[in-house]
Parts: sequence; C-alpha cells; structure tokens
Amino acid sequence: MISTLCLYGQGVVRGYAIGHAVVMSAASLEIAHYRVAAEDIPAEQQRFRQAVDTTVRDLHEMAEALPGDAPRELAVLLSVHAMLLQDPMLVQSVCQLIQERQYNAEWALTTQGQSLAEQFALMEDAYLRERSADVRQVIERVLRVLSGSAHWLPNLDAMDTDGSLIVVARDISPADMMRLRGGKFGAFLTDLGGATSHTAIVARSMNVPAVVGMGMVRTLVRDGDQLIVDGLHGTVLVNPPAVVLQEYQERQAAFLRERDELKALRHAPAVTLDGIQICMEANIELPEEAADALAQGAEGIGLFRSEFLFMGRPELPGEQEQYEAYAAVVRTMAGRSVTIRTLDIGADKTLDGEATVATNPALGLRAIRYCLANPELFNTQLRALLRAAIHGPIRVLFPMISHMQEIHAARRALARAAEELRDAGVAHNAAVQVGAMVEIPAMAIAIEPFAEALDFLSIGTNDLIQYVLAIDRGDKDVSSLYDPMHPAVLRLIAHTINAGERVGKPVSVCGEMAGDVRLTRMLLGLGLTGFSMHPQQLLDVKKEIRKAHTNALRVRVASALNRAERIDLAALTG
Ligand code: PEP
Ligand code: MG
Repeated sequence: MISTLCLYGQGVVRGYAIGHAVVMSAASLEIAHYRVAAEDIPAEQQRFRQAVDTTVRDLHEMAEALPGDAPRELAVLLSVHAMLLQDPMLVQSVCQLIQERQYNAEWALTTQGQSLAEQFALMEDAYLRERSADVRQVIERVLRVLSGSAHWLPNLDAMDTDGSLIVVARDISPADMMRLRGGKFGAFLTDLGGATSHTAIVARSMNVPAVVGMGMVRTLVRDGDQLIVDGLHGTVLVNPPAVVLQEYQERQAAFLRERDELKALRHAPAVTLDGIQICMEANIELPEEAADALAQGAEGIGLFRSEFLFMGRPELPGEQEQYEAYAAVVRTMAGRSVTIRTLDIGADKTLDGEATVATNPALGLRAIRYCLANPELFNTQLRALLRAAIHGPIRVLFPMISHMQEIHAARRALARAAEELRDAGVAHNAAVQVGAMVEIPAMAIAIEPFAEALDFLSIGTNDLIQYVLAIDRGDKDVSSLYDPMHPAVLRLIAHTINAGERVGKPVSVCGEMAGDVRLTRMLLGLGLTGFSMHPQQLLDVKKEIRKAHTNALRVRVASALNRAERIDLAALTG
C-alpha cells in the first residue's frame, strides 16, 4: 500500500499543481582529491583555466540564445554567473592553491568556492546571502566541465512534458532553469533556496508554482510519485488518496478561474464603489522589472529602490550607467510617472567591501544621511536622474528624512547637479518633483512643514513600523512584535494622510502593507488613495479596492483609531 506523505517548505509562487515527480540527480558532484606532481602544476592550472573559459562561453551562449519570451531575469542571472567566474580573485586563488598546496583543480576549486560561499552566507542582507547559492552553482558547472559530464538534467526532447511533470531538485541554477523552460512543467520543488533564490525569481516570472527550502524533498520523493503542490502554503502531498486529489483538483480549477478574472482587471480602473479613484503603482528593484509592472497594469513606478544597482559589485555604478538604468525604466513606462528613490544604503543593505561597523546601523549613517555625507556619490546619482528626466516624468524620492534641514540640503544638492549639467550643456530636465519617504516617526509626528515643503509623500511602513515599535525588522527573535496593525502605527499613517489632504499633496504607501490584500480596506479607511507594491500583488489589491466603499470604511476606522483600539479587519469586509 502506498502511504501519503505531507512535506513542507516555503511557498514562493502561488498556485496548485497536480502531477508526477521527475527527480533530478544530485547537482553536487563527487570529486576526486589528489595532489599533483610539481612538474604538472602549470598543466593543472591550464586545465582549470580552460574549464572556466568553456563554462563562461557556455553561459554567454545560453544568454544569447534565449528566446524572446524568456523571463528577463534569466539573462541577468546567466550574466551574473559568468561575472562571478570571471572574477580574477576566484581564478587567481584557485591557481594559487594548485601551486602552493599542489591540490588538483577540482579540490582547489571546491576549497576556494566553499570559503567564498561562506562569506556570502554570512552577509546580513538576505538577497546577498542567497548569492552563496550562485557561487555553489557556478562552481558545480565548472566541476561538470572538468569531469566531462556537462548535463545532469533529463533529456527534455525525449520527454512528453505537458505541464503535469513536477521538477524535484536539490537546487536549480539559472542555466538549468533555462533548459527546463524548454519543457512545460507543473511546479518546481527544491531542497535549498529561499524567497529571493533564483528558483523563486524565475518560477515567479514563469508563473509556475514553486516551493523552495524543503530540506529533504529529493530524498523523500521518488520518480513517478504522484504529487499535489500548494505553492501558496508551501505544502506538498505525496501519493494522496483519491478524495484529497479530487478536493485539490477543484481548488486548482477555482484558482485558475480566479486568475483569469484577475487578468481582466489589468486595465480596469481602480475605483471604489463610492467613486474614489485610487492610484496603483509598482515597486521595482531592477530596471528589467518595469515591464512586469506595466503588464500588471501599474499606473506608474511608485518606488524604484535604486540601491539594488549599487549592491553586490566591487565598483559603484557611474553616472552614465545610472542614467541608462533610470532612462530604461522611464522609457518602458512610456509617459507614466516614475518615482526613483535615491540610494538607501546602510543598515540591512551594505555596499561591497563596506562592512557595517556602526553599533546600531539602523540608527546610523544610512540613506539620506549617507548620501549627504558622501556628496560626490550623491551628485553622480542626482545628475543621472536629471538627465534621465528628459525621457519622461521622474519624481525624486529621498529616504529616511527626519529633519527639515535634510530636505533643504538634498534640494541644494539637486540644484547644484542641475546647475553643473546646464553649465556643461548636458541635456537634462530640472523640473522633477521632489518627495520624501515617511519612515521615521519624528517626521510623521511633525508632518505639516514637510508636507508643505515637498511635492509628495510616500509612507515606508516597513521602516516606520520598525522605528515606532523599536523592533529590528530583520531580527526573527522579535518578529512576533512586528505589528502593522498597532494603533500607534496606524495613527501615524492617518496623520500623514490627513496632512497631505490638508495641503493638497499626494500621499502613498510603498511599504509591504500596501500589497497585503488583507489590509486594503483598512488602508482605504485611513483615507489612502495611493498604493505602491510588488507588480504581482497589483491585481489582487485592485479587485479588493473595486469592492470597497471608502466613506463607510473611513467612519469605522476613524472611530477605532480615536479610541486607540485595535481594528478588527474581519469587521471591515462586507
Ligand atoms: C519601507 O521602509 O517601507 C520601504 C518601502 O523601504 P525599504 O523596505 O526599502 O526600506
Ligand atoms: Mg525603508
């Protein structure tokens, strides 16, 4: 008798899949460890260099051969892998190990790779931490080239992949993902990875359900097992009984119906039942994501986290590179508003080679403080922004503002950048709108003069909650205290929205709260008319907005807030 097994992981792409497992062989290779004779050292180093060259060439060829409909992320990820391998430090250190310790190439490469992956794994930033998986993946690729066995994936040409096969793997590198795209798969399950791992990123862009970080899925599931995957809750049922299977078939059908209905909302207006027009924009971290924002019906970019252009690289991007990145977003958005936040570095996001040494980095030299302390770096970014503004409407957003003099100083820096460009005869547009993130309680409490001095306000609830409640947003030990519904947080949001209304300046929320559909009615009840969120959340939130009655919600929310009571979210529906 076959018994049912229920496995758990992190669901990273919503949706259900029902099908049979195709289990990938281990990507980590058994490698030989031996010492090479002194006279063979140059040949061994050469063997290693050639394997690196072949791998880099393969990766470039794969990126170039990407079909037009391939997720943009794939090309980016393939070039990140090629870049990692081209890092002279990696090649030199391996050659040095071959020279000094007389390790064979495979041994030297895994030794060096391990230490590199460990350095990434220790990083504070979750995105960079997951780059240790990239290091491991490229190294496995070189090892495969060294061993002469290039592929570990099944032969897709011989497979009838009609969407009912579920890929079960230890991990899936971007290059492997590319090959898998050749077939149609129902879901991806991996032992490793987290929310920002490549499997997650690419699966999201392919809209295929995925559960990552499952730990032992590859050992517990056998080829051909029947699987039910719930990509929202991160559950996988192995060999389920018929009644469970039927239940999930119904859930899957309902989910697909709902998704089709949502698609129809892409170009529908975001208007509440009582006629309040809501502005729905998208948050992006890389220029490539603007296309997805547009496809999901975003009215503009409400937050471009520009620091992602600066992170994970040895040199900072220059003015031209930044200009091209900003201009690309502006062009993609074709006349829609693009809000670009100036470098928000420090705390959980650090530049390469800049170890965080401050005792309390979240309260230290971060974001606007860092930029004002590094005028040249700030100037480069502001010049690039003003140049890109000739292609369409750019709004410049300053993060972590707490004092009026920071606004004055940032505006002076912007004026200086415009003056320099004008004197040098460089095309630019100085008529950009200027706004600030409301994420430090001091600013939210004393909001009026800020609202008057700025063109718009954007509430960064992620940090606002952290600072109001004095809990580190990245510390899992206090995560239970991270409470977006705390009356103190909601009062500050309401206070900011009211000030914006009084002085006639638009206010939006761009923190995670904006994309959480459970909070949509509550935010409307606070009077919010601007939402900015991950592109994939836009349609769900829009659907909720179109079912809500703002004025009725405002009355209910205001009465709870006046009493500083917790708002009962369930009572706001219907
Ligand atoms: C925020 O703080 O809410 C925000 C949107 O910015 P980040 O998450 O990048 O700090
Ligand atoms: Mg923030």
